[in-house]
Amino acid sequence: MNQRERQNLMIDADDTLWENNVYFERVIEEVKTMLEPFGIAPQVFRKHLDALERKHIAIYGYGTLNFTRSLLQAFEELVPSGRRDLRHRVETLGLDILNRPVEIIEGVPETLEYLSGRHLLYLVTKGDPEEQSRKVERSGLAGYFEGVEILPEKTARTYEQLRNQHGWDPQRTWMIGNSPRSDVNPAVSAGLNAVFIPHPYTWVLEHEEPASDPRVLLLEKFADLCLHF
Ligand SMILES: [Mg+2]
Repeated sequence: MNQRERQNLMIDADDTLWENNVYFERVIEEVKTMLEPFGIAPQVFRKHLDALERKHIAIYGYGTLNFTRSLLQAFEELVPSGRRDLRHRVETLGLDILNRPVEIIEGVPETLEYLSGRHLLYLVTKGDPEEQSRKVERSGLAGYFEGVEILPEKTARTYEQLRNQHGWDPQRTWMIGNSPRSDVNPAVSAGLNAVFIPHPYTWVLEHEEPASDPRVLLLEKFADLCLHF
């Protein structure tokens, strides 16, 4: 297949175009430190938090508000009841993530500039619609994309729906991102191609073995897309 021909490129946003999970990890580290004087092991807190997030996502979806809800609950359930006064600090740490500047990953604007001149680009992200669209806007990258999709979850079914809705030829359609669970594997299950660009801070809930399939292209960094498309 000649990938120099016009392709439909769906591109993930968090930890693909800009930094995201590292902010959450930093907050989790801070709360672990707050809990240590009470004899609560960091891994006990993390395990409890991950379990709560998993449970809450199914009800409330992704995003900073849901993270903060889970963070607070995990903290409250572990901290001695006399120290609930620390609750406000934990809540502020979580909610402050909403005010972080959008930190674009190296090489992204130049690469999007190059790709958008040759291919059709669609930004496909999941999460809280308001939070995600604010990030898209603040990133200054929206202009490179023909459209933006903010989905509650990224599954094979959602990729199939997008493909059908736009009438894209599956052989010329790609999902590009850092998450095996949300970007690579469901796209391949939907009969599309995928580009996996691992990020060192990918969220544990996104960890999964990427499909071993000839339709999956593994790249070291976003800018390497220029070598293939
Ligand atoms: Mg991502």
